[in-house]
Amino acid sequence: MTGAPVPKSWISAIHAYVPGKSAGADGRPLIKLSANENPLGTSPLALAARADAAAAALYPDPDSKALRAALGTLHGIDPARIVMGTGSDEILHIAAQGYAGPGDEVIYVRYGFSVYDIAARRCGATPIVAPDADYGTDVDALLALVTERTRVVFVANPNNPTGSFLPKGEIARLHAALPADVVLVIDQAYAEYVAPEDEDGALALAEAHQNVLVTRTFSKIYGLAGERIGWGTGAPGLVDTLNRIRGPFNVSATGQAMALAAVRDQAFVEAASAHNAQERSRFVAALEALGNRGLRPLPSQANFVLILFEGALTAEAAYNGLAEAGYIVRWLPNQGLPQALRITIGTAAQMDDIAQTLARLAEVAG
Ligand code: PMP
Repeated sequence: MTGAPVPKSWISAIHAYVPGKSAGADGRPLIKLSANENPLGTSPLALAARADAAAAALYPDPDSKALRAALGTLHGIDPARIVMGTGSDEILHIAAQGYAGPGDEVIYVRYGFSVYDIAARRCGATPIVAPDADYGTDVDALLALVTERTRVVFVANPNNPTGSFLPKGEIARLHAALPADVVLVIDQAYAEYVAPEDEDGALALAEAHQNVLVTRTFSKIYGLAGERIGWGTGAPGLVDTLNRIRGPFNVSATGQAMALAAVRDQAFVEAASAHNAQERSRFVAALEALGNRGLRPLPSQANFVLILFEGALTAEAAYNGLAEAGYIVRWLPNQGLPQALRITIGTAAQMDDIAQTLARLAEVAG
């Protein structure tokens, strides 16, 4: 026989996930504000737990029992309704795989998180992209695309990369209008950054209905992105499906120990959330103070801001200028946003520096 193995056609159609860069073009390390990580780092209690856990490297608890119990206590959820993942990415993938296949449709909104497209395609389903409303989720436009082939709907709240947020009433309206056999995945990777009074009610929906899966992560506010830990919660039927197909030992022993310590350090989470709220509003105010230079920061409930470049300064020139000043941010031409930069909220000094650099670049551009 000649030739090489041929991948399934739907796999060949996937555009691989493109992560943000962490170094400049010349390899020089830059301050990384491109991956929505926590500028305060990781809870010291979690770092201490890593040292303790590192004494042995045997198989971890396959069911992450202690960690699920702690999450259950924190969020008022029965731990039996929690499934752990290797990052919330794994939960997103297995949610699509569990409920969609060739001939089925998976809906998400334009400028949604790029993994939704990969998750849909890798199980052979057809991704359906709903039009946005000024970079946010348009519930009616999304609902208009629901057919009898729709199996899964992905909505990130807040959304990455736009930072947009659907209020509780809109989430409830979306759920109420979906057929009961469609899985609504509400991706809450950035939930801890949302102002408490704006809470979107997703966990309560997941508790009350058979078809709502909420996903969360330890990668963002908990500062544990390197450990790859996420989780999902929903009805027992959903959790059972995902447990059948997740990796058997999908959260490392070190990761479980660190996440457990991190869950118990809610003071760290509160400090990170307060820091983010303050620096995000200062940063947005500094950009708005530039007046008619054409930099439009979109309203954000997350730990980043998407800036649209509508004046003489282009997003590409701003990206290069920020790299020159020592910062790597996210430029998104591959996601249909060639005139936008997504900037993670860093320290106060970093945000001041970035705002001043952008002001200078905008002035030079005219
Ligand atoms: N959902 C959203 C909206 C995200 O932005 C990210 C991270 N970029 C994830 C899920 C996945 O994060 P992780 O796999 O690290 O939990």
